[in-house]
Amino acid sequence: NDRRQKDLNSIIKTLHPLLRAEALLSNKEVKLELSNCPYLFLDEKEIRQLILNIGLNGLEAMHSSGMLVIKTFMEDEQVVLEIKDEGPGIKKEILENIGTPFFTTKEKGTGLGLAICYSIAARHSAHIKIHTSKKGTSFLIYFQQTNKVL
Ligand code: ADP
Ligand code: MG
Repeated sequence: NDRRQKDLNSIIKTLHPLLRAEALLSNKEVKLELSNCPYLFLDEKEIRQLILNIGLNGLEAMHSSGMLVIKTFMEDEQVVLEIKDEGPGIKKEILENIGTPFFTTKEKGTGLGLAICYSIAARHSAHIKIHTSKKGTSFLIYFQQTNKVL
């Protein structure tokens, strides 16, 4: 566990080429909307893993073309990382189960991606909110400015 003050936006930027390449294979796009945020205590590897797991789910959820947006902004002293897709949304029965290890609706899914994200968020004293509708899904990760990597 590597506890250092890191710029979340820089971590996101390092993943952009990878996510964009993945998106281009199926005619999708990835857009960054980053705003200045204070540095956070982040385990860079873990945060990369979290962004990739949620981002790749978002790309997979969009069956044809679509836009994945990765955004940072401040909300009441908290730094928010938002990963938003234009997929079909998540039905209530599924929403209740996501994050449970091995829960997947995909033929070749592991059902571990979001379970890992929840534990990474917990280790960063961050919490995850999900907004979903028929027009898409947003994963919002809220970081305290004084967060510690546990
Ligand atoms: P996996 O991707 O291996 O299925 P995850 O833990 O990453 O495992 O996701 C669990 C399930 O949550 C997925 O199978 C899918 O049904 C649902 N899901 C996750 N992200 C999204 C999303 N952005 N849009 C729609 N469904 C999603
Ligand atoms: Mg996944």
